Amino acid sequence: MLRINCPFCGIRDEEEFDCGGEAHVTRPENPANLSDDEWSHYLFNKVNTKGILLERWRHTYGCRQWFNMARHTVSHEIIEIYPMGSFPSFNGMNVENVVKEVEA
Ligand SMILES: [Zn+2]
Repeated sequence: MLRINCPFCGIRDEEEFDCGGEAHVTRPENPANLSDDEWSHYLFNKVNTKGILLERWRHTYGCRQWFNMARHTVSHEIIEIYPMGSFPSFNGMNVENVVKEVEA
């Protein structure tokens, strides 16, 4: 079980949280203008990387606030928790490539 440090409440057990999927996925401005393949890509094609993944999390059974988390998908190590609308700042990784992978 993960122990997650909610930026609003402090450290709590994982069972109080829900994962909202990948972070930094932008909804297309005009979905009606997309082809079925483009819309399908937006809805269903996710990175599912073996390594560091940027995810959205919600403290569902606490403050109900959303935040972002950089987490290693194999070790489950939480690299960083950071606010919605911002990007991670951790050192030692090429953050731009991680974000590009998520946005691709
Ligand atoms: Zn909270």
